[in-house]
Amino acid sequence: MKVLVINCGSSSLKFRLIEMENEEVMAKGLCERIGQAVAHFKYQPKEKDGLDCDIDFPDHDSAVKKVIETLLDEKVGVISDLSEIEAVGHRIVHGGDKFSHEECLTDDVIAEIDRCSELAPIHNPVNLIGIRACKKYMPNAHMVGVFDTAFHHELPEEAYLYGIPYKYYEDYRIRRYGFHGMSHEYVSKRTAEIMGIPYEKTKQVICHLGNGASISAIKDGHSIDTSMGYTPLEGIIMGTRSGSIDPEIIHVISKKDNKTVSEVMDTLNKKSGVFGLSNFLSSDIRDISEGYLNNNENAIRAMNTYVYSIIKYIGAYVTVLGGADSISFTAGVGENSALVRKLVCDRLSYLGVVLDEEANKNAKGESLISAKDSKIKVYAIPTDEELAIARKTARLAEEHIKNDSQK
Ligand code: ADP
Repeated sequence: MKVLVINCGSSSLKFRLIEMENEEVMAKGLCERIGQAVAHFKYQPKEKDGLDCDIDFPDHDSAVKKVIETLLDEKVGVISDLSEIEAVGHRIVHGGDKFSHEECLTDDVIAEIDRCSELAPIHNPVNLIGIRACKKYMPNAHMVGVFDTAFHHELPEEAYLYGIPYKYYEDYRIRRYGFHGMSHEYVSKRTAEIMGIPYEKTKQVICHLGNGASISAIKDGHSIDTSMGYTPLEGIIMGTRSGSIDPEIIHVISKKDNKTVSEVMDTLNKKSGVFGLSNFLSSDIRDISEGYLNNNENAIRAMNTYVYSIIKYIGAYVTVLGGADSISFTAGVGENSALVRKLVCDRLSYLGVVLDEEANKNAKGESLISAKDSKIKVYAIPTDEELAIARKTARLAEEHIKNDSQK
């Protein structure tokens, strides 16, 4: 079965076509700056030259159309008929408290995703445009939605409730939902496999450190706490997002700077985190690391505060888990920054964490980076959200195909 994975962001669309028999990537690419004056299209087929060009993408629908045309193209394409794509897996950011696992995208499910748009106003509407476009251009393919929130669906009540009047949960469903679920699930399963411990018997801390970042506590194969909350703004300090702050700060900035609440929220989402802390030096940890090593005071402040927020959550989650077997680092920073991993692990020695400095520096792919005598094993594990989506999509589509054939 060939599965097309579609991951629509606010102004981007990532895609990957995977042959599930051997999980080989047949083609992948990225549509960027959708809706802007000049958009960009990158496409890489297996064993052929790809495309990398400026293009006109007025909306996500036109991007989906271009992806399909390119996959079918005589020169650079990798399929000769659309019917070869049997299923399409869509990443859906917010599934509210309805969806605990992937779902076939029936009209009812789509209507529920639409209702969840209130919870993720930037993401869910574009996810829906992607779904509708794929349904239009590929009416015969199985459409599956895989939710970022689903893996955190079983958080215990004490972890998902906020200390606010209970009626806000009852009336408005205000609670912790958590995000990056596919990544936390994929990386925690891989960690268990590598450790050789049954997944159902592990206590793990997963640090997904990308531009957006979240840390989660995984016990016996279930997420029992996670740092992102009602929205992806809560938790550790991120590239441009503030992470957790005292809510009163919103009130004060709004009054002092004569800004609306939406304007302050925009600052917390786009101009805060390491970007804001470094006096707008950069949101990219590569730049912050370079500045840190070159004694740039803005970079040092941002790096120290960023690392501090990470160790605080790790400490909290080791407590929540009652001890941990492993800590895994993943995503852009977690996979690539030996410096951040070292700065974090050096402050976990009280837990018996001992870093293997050489292994940390040389980590490539899935790597154990703790020393033999470390009480908690530490890993760098590349995440693969697209593959996780494709596997879930294929499983559900196959189930449906089997059921249909038995009717
Ligand atoms: P997202 O999917 O949230 O946009 P990614 O997981 O792709 O983010 O991570 C992107 C971030 O990873 C970049 O902004 C950068 O800060 C960081 N990053 C990538 N490579 C490195 C590296 N070699 N060293 C440090 N940070 C890196």
